[in-house]
Amino acid sequence: GPPPPPREWLGWRAKFCGECGAPLERRVPGGDSLERGVCSSPACAPERVVYENPKVVVGCIVRDSAGRVLLCRRAIEPCRGQWTVPAGFMELGESAAEGAARETWEEAEACVRVEAPFAQVDIPVIGQVYLLYRASLEEGSRFGAGPETLESKFLPLDEVPYDDLAFSSVVTALRFFAADVEAGSFGFHSCVIDKDPGSSPSDPASYRVTQASRVPPLPYPALGGGG
Ligand code: ZN
Repeated sequence: GPPPPPREWLGWRAKFCGECGAPLERRVPGGDSLERGVCSSPACAPERVVYENPKVVVGCIVRDSAGRVLLCRRAIEPCRGQWTVPAGFMELGESAAEGAARETWEEAEACVRVEAPFAQVDIPVIGQVYLLYRASLEEGSRFGAGPETLESKFLPLDEVPYDDLAFSSVVTALRFFAADVEAGSFGFHSCVIDKDPGSSPSDPASYRVTQASRVPPLPYPALGGGG
């Protein structure tokens, strides 16, 4: 049969039209099947709809030659003081892999070579899709702590502080990563995380990983190439 409808959205919604500033009405526009914010001003385009869609979070699992991974301790909320891989919201005008490298530069001051997509983690209840890439430091690159980071360091996989990681997506992806290292080959993973409404981003009791799948590794070309 047809796919199920989206889960109930409990998060923030736009209240005003971005074009004219008038309040939005919530209703199903003509020709649509979901309730949307529709501009209430008759002066705006007829039935101007404000579409709200999930955001993409991009980041890198950076591994060094000793097999350790680069973790950053967050200097900002949410989850200040907890550890994560370098990751953040994708910007307009960049590809996901470019964004992952940019976030790694901003948060860990590290120049990386993106090697392959590693995990897609969907978190529909908060409207986010994580795309995490495997990466390595470019030769000679330093690493450090950008403005949003207290400290960064490479940690062996068996010393990853799973109880002190900032996000369920990162916990999940690093567990996939450790399993692949154990198995001796990297795949591409995807899964869905369902969370309890209102739970903290990292409470391990508040989320479930479902629809997990893994395909064999996908090669990935160098960024910035013309070919
Ligand atoms: Zn308007």
